[in-house]
Amino acid sequence: TLDFIRWTTFQRVSPPAAAALAASVAALAEAEGLPAHAAAARRAGDELAAEQGSVAGPRTSPRARATLRELSLYRPNRAPCAIDLSDNTNRWGMPPSAARALHEIDADRVTRYPSVYTPELKGALASYAGVEADEVVVGCGSDDVLDSAIRAFAEPGDRIAFPNPTFGMLPIWAQMNDLVAIPVPTPNPHAVNIDALLAARAQVTYLCSPNNPTGLSLSRADVARVIEDAAGVVILDEAYAEFAGDGWVTLAPNHPRLIVVRTMSKAFGLAGLRIGYATAAASTALQIEKARGPYMVSGAAERAALAALRNDLDWVRANIVAAQENRARFANELEAAGIPFLPSTANFILVPVGSAADVAAAMREAGIAVRPFADVNGIGDGVRITVAPWPMMETAMRALRNAVRT
Ligand code: PMP
Repeated sequence: TLDFIRWTTFQRVSPPAAAALAASVAALAEAEGLPAHAAAARRAGDELAAEQGSVAGPRTSPRARATLRELSLYRPNRAPCAIDLSDNTNRWGMPPSAARALHEIDADRVTRYPSVYTPELKGALASYAGVEADEVVVGCGSDDVLDSAIRAFAEPGDRIAFPNPTFGMLPIWAQMNDLVAIPVPTPNPHAVNIDALLAARAQVTYLCSPNNPTGLSLSRADVARVIEDAAGVVILDEAYAEFAGDGWVTLAPNHPRLIVVRTMSKAFGLAGLRIGYATAAASTALQIEKARGPYMVSGAAERAALAALRNDLDWVRANIVAAQENRARFANELEAAGIPFLPSTANFILVPVGSAADVAAAMREAGIAVRPFADVNGIGDGVRITVAPWPMMETAMRALRNAVRT
């Protein structure tokens, strides 16, 4: 039969025309979900433009910094799904007082600029974290705080060491900031290679506890050793620490090289408002704040965050307990179903599977979005499932069981 005949046509174009087309080809490839094709098109365009001896002619796109040209956009699957357990946000909702504060925002909060460096919010976060206000720096999500902290303490060409696996933004920030990324493989999913991390003698050492995507908490002794012996600053990402009930946020200012980063996106249910913060010695917090820049937290977000910190800590704590209970209950069910998983101290559980893409697609068909991870170091493929109110977990369990059995 002739079922597999496919016609391909092509047009030869001159090098200047190819250079001029490169940006459009890259945009089309990105839109089709082909980031490697997009990067190849951009690279070809850049090379052609360079061969022609111009940085950017009138018809070519301007040349971005070399470190950015190879970088693709961050593209998690955000397609809507009946139950979304893909991003570790608070599926119990948002603090009621934050909702009220947003409803009551007056025009001045919108028409005028917000506070430059959020002194009121720093004060409220300082009391929550048990530190002084000048030992806190706030940013547009902890993503912004982490990036600012990295930029504040690493020059282009410096090294940044981090365990592998960990939060997927690390290699991206390394590249954005022109740093040498040193991923340090973990010997097994339950341990971090502290010796190898320290041996990197990096200007920035990143730790994440509980770790994303494994859910592993570092022991206090391991963190203490890194703080003691690291060559440069230590950034300890505690985005999920509330669910572990442990952390270093209060102690950070006592350790000159430690920066502890937290967020209001997870336990506080305010991911859409983009508020993250760090605690550190006041002189360190100041440098991060300079790297971050002024006016980075919107006035509306600041009001909602203040309301939650002042009025709804009980609401937040109750939901942390609910997440911990459902985490244990879901783990029991996984065990009973004979589905292996990584024991977690966070508000998510990583389930190793044969093909993460296939399992995530099958679960999405059943109305549950989870986050697929391909080829996680030492683990292989896995799907990460956010811990949520029990009816959602029941549906997730059913979908997972069917997906791993098909
Ligand atoms: N750190 C870790 C470990 C995370 O998983 C995330 C969110 N996925 C962040 C930081 C960033 O969170 P946000 O910017 O919402 O504070």
